[in-house]
Amino acid sequence: MSPIKITKDNAKAIFEQYNHILFDCDGVLWLGPDAIPNVQQAVSALEKQGKTFAFVSNNSSASRNTYHEKFKRLGYKGLQKSQYFPTCYSAATCIKEKLQIPIGSKVWVLGDHGIEQELEEAGYVPLGGTDPGLDTPFDPDHELLIVDKDVKAVVIGSTKSFNYMRIALTLQYLLADNKSIPFIGTNIDRTYPGPKGLVLPAGGSVVEYMAYTADRRFIDVGKPSQVLLDAIIDHCKFDRSKTLMVGDTLYTDIKFGNDGNLGGGAGSSLLVLTGGTSETQLRAQVDHGESSLTPAYYIESFGDLAEYLS
Ligand code: PLP
Ligand code: CA
Repeated sequence: MSPIKITKDNAKAIFEQYNHILFDCDGVLWLGPDAIPNVQQAVSALEKQGKTFAFVSNNSSASRNTYHEKFKRLGYKGLQKSQYFPTCYSAATCIKEKLQIPIGSKVWVLGDHGIEQELEEAGYVPLGGTDPGLDTPFDPDHELLIVDKDVKAVVIGSTKSFNYMRIALTLQYLLADNKSIPFIGTNIDRTYPGPKGLVLPAGGSVVEYMAYTADRRFIDVGKPSQVLLDAIIDHCKFDRSKTLMVGDTLYTDIKFGNDGNLGGGAGSSLLVLTGGTSETQLRAQVDHGESSLTPAYYIESFGDLAEYLS
């Protein structure tokens, strides 16, 4: 089925069908540090209608505390930390609740500060990560190359400190004990839309690099994982049949909502064109792609709803 374009004429009727909205962040609400025009006003208009929200980001670099500060800076009011689901948090939750790794265990990290912060908040001891002692050329005598037996999991996500020392160390943990230490990958995104129109490497590029190097797969804790969707629906007490997923990426956001059969008959997903997907790419998807990646609706920008819903 071809996606329906949201316009001033149909917007109110479409949004009346939903009580809850799951928002992707980068490319929908903001691009890097900058808000996408009028999106905050559109979210506020929906909030006044009694709709409730959760914010689901595949970006593992920022913790829920960092998200909270960013939402406040961009003018969002009344949001709670419990509404944010970045993949650094889902990685820590997976270690604690699914894998039941004892609190206090060490966790090897190839990733940014957000992963370290969420692991610490969950009671774990991150190793590696942003440690400035690893910003060095490869050193075969480095003490961490001798695998620490107290490391009980490996988390890999987006990192701005990617270097040979860190990947060589990470590989030792992925290979240790016959590859038995659980390997959690925060997300599968290849790229994300960066500032000045740049396309930048995202977390999935790091996760897949290490998966290939170690020749093993990983537990994916980001969109489109349905384990993540089920946990959010459960945690937020959303009615699945009244929930809409909004995102800018077909193979993560749109698949996430569609696979979850959100929205009942009303449609699972809405694509915005302010991020990583152009109208031409959407057309190619509709003409040739698999249906689980085709959105029910699309709109130029979520910010357009500020006017359409007024
Ligand atoms: N920033 C980085 C570094 C990422 O790796 C990603 C996704 O992989 C994003 C931003 C985009 O996250 P989202 O669009 O899910 O909010
Ligand atoms: Ca996005």
